[in-house]
Amino acid sequence: MTTKIKTNKIPEHSVTSAVKTLCVFFMFCAVIFSCAKQPDASGKTPPRAVNGVIDLRDWDFEKDGPVKLDGEWEFYWKELLQSVDIKENQAYENITVPGIWNDFSVNGQKIGSTGYATYRLKILLADSLPDQMGLRIQSIRSAYELEINGKLICQNGKVGTDSSSSMLSKAFRNVNLPLNSNSAELVLRQSNYQSREGGLRDPLLIGSLRQLKQLEMKQASIEWSLIGILGIMGIYHLGLYFIRRKHTSPLWFGLFSIILALRSALTSSAFLYNVFPADIHWLLYKIEYLTLYLAVPIFAMYMRGLFPREFRLTFIQLIIAISFLFSLPVIFAPSIIYTRTLLWFEIFMFVIGLYTIVRIAFAILRKREGSVLFLSAWMLFFAAVINDILNNKRTINTGVYFQIGFIAFIFLQSYLLSRRFSIAFNTVEKQSLELAKLARVKDEFLANLSHELRTPLTAIHAYGEMFENCDNPADMKDYGREIFASSEKLIGYVDDLMLLTRMETALDMSRSKTDIQEIITENIDILSKNMRERNISVRKNTTNAGKIQADRKLLSKAIHAVIKNAVIYNRENGEIIIDVENDNTMIKITIADTGVGIAADQLPLIFDRFYRVDSSDTYEVSGVGVGLFLAKKIIEMHGGTIGVNSEPGRGSEFTVRLPVK
Ligand code: ADP
Repeated sequence: MTTKIKTNKIPEHSVTSAVKTLCVFFMFCAVIFSCAKQPDASGKTPPRAVNGVIDLRDWDFEKDGPVKLDGEWEFYWKELLQSVDIKENQAYENITVPGIWNDFSVNGQKIGSTGYATYRLKILLADSLPDQMGLRIQSIRSAYELEINGKLICQNGKVGTDSSSSMLSKAFRNVNLPLNSNSAELVLRQSNYQSREGGLRDPLLIGSLRQLKQLEMKQASIEWSLIGILGIMGIYHLGLYFIRRKHTSPLWFGLFSIILALRSALTSSAFLYNVFPADIHWLLYKIEYLTLYLAVPIFAMYMRGLFPREFRLTFIQLIIAISFLFSLPVIFAPSIIYTRTLLWFEIFMFVIGLYTIVRIAFAILRKREGSVLFLSAWMLFFAAVINDILNNKRTINTGVYFQIGFIAFIFLQSYLLSRRFSIAFNTVEKQSLELAKLARVKDEFLANLSHELRTPLTAIHAYGEMFENCDNPADMKDYGREIFASSEKLIGYVDDLMLLTRMETALDMSRSKTDIQEIITENIDILSKNMRERNISVRKNTTNAGKIQADRKLLSKAIHAVIKNAVIYNRENGEIIIDVENDNTMIKITIADTGVGIAADQLPLIFDRFYRVDSSDTYEVSGVGVGLFLAKKIIEMHGGTIGVNSEPGRGSEFTVRLPVK
């Protein structure tokens, strides 16, 4: 019995289980997404800064929560001013915060990414404020100094007028807001010579220090969960790979997860920047970029591992080569150069993303295992990214979903891998059981065969000896006949076994016009001695049998096996009825006997290789259990079928159907 291992096709039942999983998963996402939505604390529209002043006198921080200092800030390009330096009527530009300054025009000219500037914002506050007010500064990538009411509050790197004095960083921080009146003047000096984007990209937040810390905790807990999930998934899948190296997808998925865990620690609230001294932030920045540029080819390898037919090696090699080219400047060039490659890499990722959707759609059409789950995860992640882009641009106000989308994506991917593994384990388990069964069948067969061969051999041996010592010609004739009969039995077994081996490999058929009636008659003749011995009679109606194109020798062997069984499993004085009908499309041969019959639970098994019914009725009958197996194979090779009806104790009826043309 041969069993093919199908690795890529989805079995019927797993399609429904995939649908169920998807439903559960989408419900899970719906719950998480609804929890993750972060509307403004009170729903009150926060005021915006106009002409360098933000009026928060009506803002109740305790009730309404922290507020973003968004809007128009005063902007002094190519000037590093202290609060005291700024004169009452000094000219300034209005710049929108948050926003990078690259496209901002001063004197009709775009200022570009590099340079230095001073920002100023006046904040008008209510009389009663929370005890401790604070400011949250999110990722400002270049050097800056922040002054509040003339006092230097925090500093990042060294602000300067050329590249030697500036630095790259992006630590997040909450700072205490020293207030001695109900207004505050915020002056921020910034210089950028290292990053492709200058200016205040992210909003600054003002609020009670307690609330800001809570916000930080909330963000950190989501981020740490993500880092934890990614780290554990990474180690788990790498472990899986090292235990069983045959499949590479866990290796790539493990590496992908670990790289992204590292990336998560460097992006979002960038906690690694807070941990390491500012002197090596340039190195962290390189690692941050490399994690992205490496994650893409690693993920491509993972996809190839999952769907090798859909993602050709040349496509993956192209992704690796392009990502490698992008990585070179990150390793060797200064940040002002390599940070400019990000936009191009994002376009590259977008193209790969779209192409992946197309290829996975093919995988779904080809019914590849896990393809539906993969596409759902991919689309979900894509939707989260697009939502965030639109949310960032303020086209919609739905909240940020990248991390949640990403957790969902990773969750689904690892579910997909574990499902593949369990399917593989199930297959192995099933195959081991089948192998064990086969080994048992083989042992029984060998025991049976030795017994069956021994009986005629013993007879030949004994009659041979008697023949040698015999002088009476009449006895000699009898002995010779016995030797001939026993050796014929042996030849029959050997023939069957040889045919069995040929069946397993390849068997050529040589077809010719074959007369069915002739075959039946000749096999009855061969078995007539047997029938006479047990007084079994034959009734047959074969005159309309006709002829078909068939391999005469093989077909005769098949019919012989069925008629022989009708004889040997018959009772003494029993009967065999053979009937043939031919309707010019099919020939139907029915061979019925009045023998021991076959129990219903044995019926499906009697056509198996080496199968013999083990009962008191059949115990005495010799055989090795290949007759019906061969008969079925031969009939099927002719495009026909064989079936059986039986009633224990009353007899059996075998029906062979063969196509006429
Ligand atoms: P063998 O006869 O060598 O054991 P077969 O493959 O021809 O092997 O048959 C398989 C089993 O099916 C037999 O062991 C027997 O128990 C049962 N069988 C086949 N034909 C008949 C029949 N006409 N009546 C009762 N039992 C039968």
